[in-house]
Order: sequence, then C-alpha cells, then structure tokens
Amino acid sequence: MLRTHTCGELNINSLGQTVTLCGWVQKSRDLGGTTFIDIRDRFGLTQLILNADTDAELREKARSLGREFVIKVTGKVLERTSKNPKIPTGDIEIAVEELDILNAAKIPPFLIEDETDGGEELRAKYRYLDLRRNPIRQNLMLRHRMGQEVRKYLDAQGFIEVETPVLIKSTPEGARDFVVPSRMNPGEFYALPQSPQTFKQLLMVSGFDRYFQIVKCFRDEDLRADRQPEFTQIDCELSFVEQEDILNIFEGLTRHLFSVVKGITLDTFPRMQYSDAMRLYGSDKPDVRFGMQFVELNDVVKGKNFAIFDNAELVVGINAKGCAGYTRKQVDELTDWLKRPQIGASGLVYCRYNTDGTLKSSVDKFYNEDELTNWAAAFEAEAGDLMLVLAGPADKVRKQLNELRLEMGGRLGLRDKDKFAPLWVVDFPLLEWDEENGRYHAMHHPFTSPKPEDIALLDTEPGSVRANAYDLVINGTEIGGGSIRIHEKTLQSLMFKHLGFSAEEAQKQFGFLLDAFEFGAPPHGGIAFGFDRLCSIFAGLDSIRDVIAFPKNNSGRDVMIDSPSTIAPEQMKELNIATTN
Ligand code: ASP
Repeated sequence: MLRTHTCGELNINSLGQTVTLCGWVQKSRDLGGTTFIDIRDRFGLTQLILNADTDAELREKARSLGREFVIKVTGKVLERTSKNPKIPTGDIEIAVEELDILNAAKIPPFLIEDETDGGEELRAKYRYLDLRRNPIRQNLMLRHRMGQEVRKYLDAQGFIEVETPVLIKSTPEGARDFVVPSRMNPGEFYALPQSPQTFKQLLMVSGFDRYFQIVKCFRDEDLRADRQPEFTQIDCELSFVEQEDILNIFEGLTRHLFSVVKGITLDTFPRMQYSDAMRLYGSDKPDVRFGMQFVELNDVVKGKNFAIFDNAELVVGINAKGCAGYTRKQVDELTDWLKRPQIGASGLVYCRYNTDGTLKSSVDKFYNEDELTNWAAAFEAEAGDLMLVLAGPADKVRKQLNELRLEMGGRLGLRDKDKFAPLWVVDFPLLEWDEENGRYHAMHHPFTSPKPEDIALLDTEPGSVRANAYDLVINGTEIGGGSIRIHEKTLQSLMFKHLGFSAEEAQKQFGFLLDAFEFGAPPHGGIAFGFDRLCSIFAGLDSIRDVIAFPKNNSGRDVMIDSPSTIAPEQMKELNIATTN
C-alpha cells in the first residue's frame, strides 16, 4: 500500500506516530513562514504543516502544489495548536518530512468543495471532478448502503438474485423501447428491457419461487427531474402468494431500510383505493404528508345561474388554511400559474373566510353570503381560510387541482423533506383509455391480473375492471409498483385480445410466455421499486441525478462522454442500417 492511513482516521490517539498519507490537495496556504496544506481523500481531510523546522527544499516543493495535485506525504502526527472541532482529524496535523508529487493537476474548472461555483452543465462535463465533492459522494455511499441492505433483507426472506439478459425483445411497460441492431441477424433488432418483467415470470415457471435483481431498465421517454433513460429497479417476483403477502414483505423491506439507514421507525402503511386517491387528491400518488383533501361541490354550487359551475362536470376545491390574507395580486398570480399550458386550468374561483367572520368570493354576483356559508361548511373552513375552487371535466379538473394542492402545500411548508408519509395505493383499474389511439392500454402492463370478480366486465365495461395491482407511494412519489399476474394461457390471451393484439401478433411477440404458461405456471406476483427514486428520497433530493454516478441530462445526453453520437459509415453498413437524415 502507498499509505499507512487514510486522510480521515488520525486523531489525538495517533500523536507521535510517523504516518504516510496519499490524497488530493484541497487547499494550501502560506502564513508567515508556515505552510498549511489540506490533503483529502474519500475518508476525510488532514492538515499538513511545513514550517521553519522543515527542510527548505521541501517547503519550496510544497509551495509549488496546486489544487487537486495528487501527493504522498510522510511525517509525524502532532497536536494542533488551534483545533478544528468540526472534523474528526481536527485535533492533529502532520509535520511533513517527505513529499512526493504523484500527479500534477490542471486548475479544476470549478471549486471542488461542498458549495461549488460550477453550473450544472459544467459539472456534468467534468462529472469525475463533481464526484470528488462530499455531497455527491455521500449520496452514492448512501445508495451503496441501501443496496447492501436490500440484498440482506431479501436474502433473509429467501429471495434468489438472478441476472436476466439486456438484449431482449420488447417488454411493454408503457414507454418506447431502445433498440440495438443485430449485426449477425441483418435487419433485426434487440430491444433493451423496459423491465425484466417476462423473464422474472418465466423464473417463476422454472420454480425459483422468489427472485430479485437490482437491475438496469431502459425506457425511451421524455425526461424530467425524476426520470432517466436508464434507471435501476429493485425487481422482485414471488410464487404462491397473494397481494397481501407482497404488500407485507415489501412494506417490511421499506421499513427495514428506513430503520437501519435513517433510524426512522415507520408506522404501518395505510392502504388507499385508487378511486379514493383520485377523488380526494386527484392523483394516484398522493402526497399525504398533509391533508388539504379535495371537497366536491356540485351539490352545493350548482343551480345558481353561474354558467361555469352549472355546465361543469365537476366543481371541486381545496381549503388553503390560514390563507385568507392572500391579496388580490397573490390570487391573480396563482390563477395565472394555473392557466399556464402545463396545467391548463380555465380559471380559479376563490372564497375568503375573513378573520372578522365575513365571507368574500370572486363570484359574489351569484352567491350571497348565506350560500357562501354552505361552501365554508362543505370545506370545514374556519375564519382565516381561503377556499380555492376549480370547475371543468372531472378528470382534467382533478389533475389541475392536484397541482394546485401540491403548490399550496409547498407554499405553506407542509411538504417537509424530513417527514415520510408512505402508503399503498391499491385496486388500480386494469385498463386505461387511450384518447389518441382510441383504444385501451394496460394501466400497469399486459401481464397484470384482473380481479377475478371483475373478469366478467371485460366485455361490457372494460374501463371499470379493477386489477390486482398496487403502488407504494412515499411523499407523493411513486416508489414501487406491481401486481398479481395472469398465469393461465387463456386469460393472458384474452387480455392481449382486449389490448388490441390479434392472436398472431400476441403469439409473435409473447408466444414464449403463452407457451410457458402451458407447462405448469404457478400463481405468482411481484413488484419493482425505483431504486434511484428511493435513494433520492432518502437523500432528501428532488432529482434522481445526484444519486446516479454518471447520469444523463434532460435531452438524454451524457455530455462527459458525448453520447449519443454518430457512428462510422462502415459500422452502419456492417449493421445493415441507414439513417434518414
Ligand atoms: N415490471 C413492472 C414495472 O417495471 C413492475 C412489476 O410489475 O413487477 O413497473
């Protein structure tokens, strides 16, 4: 080893030892005749000192060091005169006797410190330097710890880790596939897995009973802060289980992680029907750190000649507690925010419950104070509250009000990053109407089992068939989702038919699975957790980027390695592909 110790481990008990450390120069300063250098590695920071007692040549060499030079020093551990209680090595310093420059460094393009001056793009280009910074490294260490704990927990529960292939054929999870041309099979393509879904089901057919994998998945979809084209799942599948078993085991995993990694003991996770989540929060991933549930007002507000409410399918609102003091300007600003195309509300109606007990709304022309009292009763509002109301087509207006609720929750400081509110959302619909293509899609994926009691509705009312599907939601973020699967060929074929596959198409794309179901497939079900998201929640981050060592930017690019990029014409030829532009 080039060193005797790391830069984070020497302390008052090490006084008098002669040690050798290796690391990067964090900073160096000359004070009078004394030179101080901070040397850093993954483990910490140690102060080096060179003074009048040090050989002049060595001091000269030390003065030539720039930031981020890689050095090796040998010296004696001394007690510091001015101690730094903030770091574990703050009581000591090393009186340098030997100094080797292992490698020089150019001046880094941004400060390698906890608070840096580097913009996002610059840091992405030099990601390997950004990764030297404590906050980012700590995120990755947290991720490592969580991965280890996941393995420990699942192993103890009898899960076997099995790797599944990356060059496969489409597994529809609702996104576009990334494809890879096959040189050996001209004109043919592999798809990268959107998830190992079909493979893990096949492992159940093979009798593995309990499978897991911490695995990369690939989805070609538009990116947002919490999405990456490649991301990691904790992917699991179990045989001979019911929904309840899966919820319990994975609630156990989540509680285990919170307990060992964050020291937090969580209560039993509440369960909420999908239909209630939509009705009360307008979202299938409600943030239940705070209340502010939706209040439906059709019965209260209709029939008073206010056409907007009379003609709306749904009039629904929230009570922003303590916000009656919002000025006209603030409400206008909120209205503009709601009207932006991203949200698309047509307007916002409000009613202030003033602290003096009077009620004042933006629709006073249609509703007198008596009627507004009924609003207040429906909202369970008190003096000082502000009722915010939207109207329109039910689905749309719920989505818009969900945005408003989250915004108001944020403004009122109700979305505390240190508070964790997990819940299971259950009984999702099996199918979702796709307006654009005029047909049904699988809401989860085509392998999800309908509730047996709803199967009869598949022909008559497909939209109201419920699935044995569930999501784990924490603080308004979907952390995981899964379902009990179909394990019989006839039902799976029926499902493909309802999703618009002809028998031939189903056989061509999923024949292997349908065939496997004829060889004794056990009842099974599973779940996958978004590992990046889980880590980002644990780290208190909004984006998953900083829990990923080498993430892509919003356009799906890795600006460090400059990918994607064009390939040589010969390579295109060899792959039997051509571009159209
Ligand atoms: N394959 C599913 C997904 O990626 C999870 C599951 O059903 O287990 O969302």
